Amino acid sequence: MTVTIKFCGGARTVTGSMHLVSADHTSVLLDCGLFHGRRDEAFQVNSNFSFNPQSLKAAVVSHAHIDHCGNVPTLIKKGYRSHIFATPVTKKLLHYMLPDSGYVQEEDVKYVNKINKRRHLPSRQPLYTKQEAGKALKYIRSLEYHAKFAISREIDLTFYEAGHILGSGIPVLDIKTSYGPMRIAYAVDLGRYNMPLLKNPEVPKDVDYLIIESTYGGRRHDSIIDAEEELADAINRTVKRGGKIIIPSFALERTQLIVFFISELIKRNKIKKIPIYVDSPLAVNLTKVFRENWQYFDDITQQAFQREEDPLGYDNITYITQVNNSKRLNEKKNPMIIISASGMCENGRILHHLKNNIENPHNTIVIIGFMAKDTLGRRIVERNETVKIFGHPHRLNAEVVTLNAFSSHADQDGLVEYAKNCRGRLKQVFIVHGEEEQSEVLRTNLKKLNLKVSIPAKDETVFLSAR
Ligand SMILES: [Zn+2]
Ligand SMILES: [Zn+2]
Repeated sequence: MTVTIKFCGGARTVTGSMHLVSADHTSVLLDCGLFHGRRDEAFQVNSNFSFNPQSLKAAVVSHAHIDHCGNVPTLIKKGYRSHIFATPVTKKLLHYMLPDSGYVQEEDVKYVNKINKRRHLPSRQPLYTKQEAGKALKYIRSLEYHAKFAISREIDLTFYEAGHILGSGIPVLDIKTSYGPMRIAYAVDLGRYNMPLLKNPEVPKDVDYLIIESTYGGRRHDSIIDAEEELADAINRTVKRGGKIIIPSFALERTQLIVFFISELIKRNKIKKIPIYVDSPLAVNLTKVFRENWQYFDDITQQAFQREEDPLGYDNITYITQVNNSKRLNEKKNPMIIISASGMCENGRILHHLKNNIENPHNTIVIIGFMAKDTLGRRIVERNETVKIFGHPHRLNAEVVTLNAFSSHADQDGLVEYAKNCRGRLKQVFIVHGEEEQSEVLRTNLKKLNLKVSIPAKDETVFLSAR
């Protein structure tokens, strides 16, 4: 029997995770993520798979971030008709994440077609629509953590806790080869130890081959305790000035985490009890899924829910879905905290809040997530004097505070520690999901553990040995 892994996406780059494990008659796709990049290139990459979707036996989604699941609707469009396995929470999150992604694709194409029409260029089609994303949902099948499922006679699938976001899993494939069992673990993305809300990542036993992410392969996170203090100081300074605190945030996980931290600061009297608004319909729906699935949180959070406390909401938090209520926030002049998406300030309601508040020096913009190059978020982090919002220049007079500690990814020490804990039977580590310089640092550090390590290129195929 030959067993191979083909690294079809998210290799030597961060987004678009997609890897194909094949053993004789069975091919299993690990993740089907959306690749983010310049519009034309992204469309090209996302609409062409380097395998035949109809030949797959199964697909597996590690967690509900779009760079891991966002190309599932294209897979269905191209004829895939079998199961897509995910943990129960991920399945419920996908119910909101995929249609939202379809909506974003449609809106983007609408914008491009407006310009194309003026230039007499042909109009474009979205990668997939909200409706097509909805069709993909019926193929998703939930599999509980630690429950082994036989995908075929050759391959079993089990999810372990990844500790990255709620519902995130480390899919483990157990392959029966003619030389004995072979175990492949896919730690992409991998979370951090001792983060609030989430359980710690689990280390499956007897792993032969480990595929691991490297987003922060060469960086260390700031201390979360210092970040909490800085957050409290920023809020207190702004309240004193009578200003508003604007926090751009990803709807999934980061929003719920920052709400938790702010609630803790209020409980400990570190900040005044000012109104908090979470203004993102997607975040509202995702938070609902989090609350309904509280048994997947860590022990401390579970106990809080059992005591009927709500770690994801405090009595002064308002979750906003209606546009009118969102607009009304601008009429209120008292200090408040507004948390809104999109995370990198590229679209969504955060743009309105920035437009209305960025020129007032009493206000503060708190950055809690990674901002990619060429995004409005990045220009704010770099404190450009003026920034364009909806095509118009605005002076950046508000204070900007950047906090890098709230990441849900393991940093360089966490990744090395994890691989170390997997040693034993480990034959090789494959580093994916990272910019090359980050992956290189991780490779150097893993080699110090006497491990065989490689950074596969996109579409490279590797033959695995069970011996
Ligand atoms: Zn992720
Ligand atoms: Zn990712």
